[in-house]
Amino acid sequence: MKKHILIVGGGYVGLYTALRLQRRLHRELRGGEVRITIIDPQSYMTYQPFLPEAAAGNLSPRHVVAPLRRILPKVRILNGRVTQVSHAERTVTFQPAEGGPRRLTYDVIVMAAGSISRTLPIPGLTDIGIGFKTVGEAIALRNRVLRQLDVAESTDDPDVRRKALTFVVVGAGFAGVEALAELEDMAKDSTRYYRNIGPSDLRWVLVEATNRVLPEVGPEMGKWTLEQLRERGIDVRLDTRLESCVDGHVVLSDGAEFDAETLVWTAGVKSSPVVQDSDLPLDERGRIKGTTRLTVAGTPDAFAAGDAAGVPDVTNPGQFCAPNAQHAVRQAKVLADNIVRHLRGEELVEYRHKYVGSVAGLGLHQGVANVYGVKLRGFPAWFMHRTYHLSRVPTLNRKVRVVVDWTLALFFKRETISLGEMEHPREGFRAAVATTHR
Ligand SMILES: Cc1cc2nc3c(=O)[nH]c(=O)nc-3n(C[C@H](O)[C@H](O)[C@H](O)COP(=O)(O)OP(=O)(O)OC[C@H]3O[C@@H](n4cnc5c(N)ncnc54)[C@H](O)[C@@H]3O)c2cc1C
Repeated sequence: MKKHILIVGGGYVGLYTALRLQRRLHRELRGGEVRITIIDPQSYMTYQPFLPEAAAGNLSPRHVVAPLRRILPKVRILNGRVTQVSHAERTVTFQPAEGGPRRLTYDVIVMAAGSISRTLPIPGLTDIGIGFKTVGEAIALRNRVLRQLDVAESTDDPDVRRKALTFVVVGAGFAGVEALAELEDMAKDSTRYYRNIGPSDLRWVLVEATNRVLPEVGPEMGKWTLEQLRERGIDVRLDTRLESCVDGHVVLSDGAEFDAETLVWTAGVKSSPVVQDSDLPLDERGRIKGTTRLTVAGTPDAFAAGDAAGVPDVTNPGQFCAPNAQHAVRQAKVLADNIVRHLRGEELVEYRHKYVGSVAGLGLHQGVANVYGVKLRGFPAWFMHRTYHLSRVPTLNRKVRVVVDWTLALFFKRETISLGEMEHPREGFRAAVATTHR
């Protein structure tokens, strides 16, 4: 009997699950006994750990994404968003980029839709805040930061200048610290091309609700990171919450008030909304209720992993696997093998991986690492960060392009121009039409 495996989301879990299935089921795929479909709004997988480097201009945005159709020639890729999963009927509704919604049936589903930014109802946040999860956001932020330097250099109003040169990041986990550290490094580097802006004119504020930064590298290295950031002149405010940011007027819970044009929100993630729009069981944190075998609890023919799922951590009883790439990639491998076992009527195996620690880049030649208990800081950690992620980025093609980008940046300094105009490509044409019809 023909089986259709449907994967919702083509990120870490989706791509790596499909890659392994493509390899392990190549005979069945060729014979038409199995079909695999991935649905994702984008035609590429984003290698998120490289987003800070893309924002800093060390990597081209195209090189931090992996094209799904090229990597997965035996898999059907449909671009659009799954809006509803009716597992009882083995059907999903999906909204393609153009045209009306479509319904697709399947035999086995893999929920791999990842997560979105977890926000709070803070006045002004939706108007001025930006997340840091997609390549679009990373590049928009890069353009925004560089544009603010242009604004500051060109105005004679001190308030406009101060506001333009104030940058706020909320949330001091992986994404927040790496994004801030890389962007601050880039902005500082860029000031050499401006006549009236020096590094000390830039104000970077990191707001964190708890009393630590970068918990992923452990307390000791987190403390070291905090000291490093402060030494660099970054205003790190622990035990502090953002209370309001209407029109860029930032109010913090410690009483501080100031104006900022740029506010990046990286204070946590929650599962992708499609998880709620399904009849699959959820846990108390709104994730798909997963099992140690990467199936959906109490539900036949359904698998889930990555940020969207609550997968019990067998190496740490009572806890769940943290939402990170380290788990996502490894889970995908076990998940794909379990699908093969499921199709063959064999017993499924458990996912078991003990978190080994993390590496983080903190700007050019700066980093922090705590991996297998080995603690590194500064240049060695930065080098480890780069080599580790280079080994992890999918496909040889991407690895080579990343190395070329880094090498070029080494010899020719990084690019520091804002191409923010690309976000509004029709404005010039519209203005031209308006003058013609005047
Ligand atoms: C800036 C940044 C840096 C990071 N650095 C690290 C690091 O150094 N180390 C580490 O271990 N982890 C890191 N992470 C975390 C890591 O990237 C995530 O944990 C990992 O991507 C989770 O994989 P996933 O497959 O669950 O989700 P994702 O990789 O996010 O993939 C989810 C996919 O689902 C798609 N999707 C969403 N909704 C729908 C829908 N309705 N229909 C169809 N498709 C949908 C999305 O478009 C996306 O392609 C970082 C994250 C960020 C943001």
